[in-house]
Amino acid sequence: MLVVSACLAGMKVRYNGTDCLEDVIGEMVSSGKAVTVCPEILGGFQTPREPAEIQGGTGEDVLDGTARVLDRSGADVTDQYVAGAAETLAICRKMGATEIVLKENSPSCGSSMIYNGDFSGEKIPGEGVTTALLRRHGIKVWSEEDAVNEFV
Ligand code: SF4
Repeated sequence: MLVVSACLAGMKVRYNGTDCLEDVIGEMVSSGKAVTVCPEILGGFQTPREPAEIQGGTGEDVLDGTARVLDRSGADVTDQYVAGAAETLAICRKMGATEIVLKENSPSCGSSMIYNGDFSGEKIPGEGVTTALLRRHGIKVWSEEDAVNEFV
């Protein structure tokens, strides 16, 4: 069973209450070939919520305790991000999933790019907190762009 970011399947779980539907992924979920997760909702957030970015590093650094996740108001939300990553890993294990498709650029789900931490819209190479944890446990993480090319 494939696991996918809920926002890619059309669920309005992004920080601003929107989705980022990819038709192919939505169809995989509606046909029962994939199940959805949203690490931030699993970590205890609600929608809408303040946007947050990793400050001082990437998801790997957050897991190592050398970077933090702060929302735009400056609140430290690192614990929720780490909790959501752990919940997502637990779901992947329960489902027997070895691959997951996660939304690029997110501080949770990004797999090759994330925002740089100053809320300017600038991106840097790196991965989100959930992606980092899943990769540490041997789960293959695809971005939606890679997945659409791979699975269509
Ligand atoms: Fe949830 Fe990840 Fe989509 Fe953000 S990018 S809304 S954490 S599934």
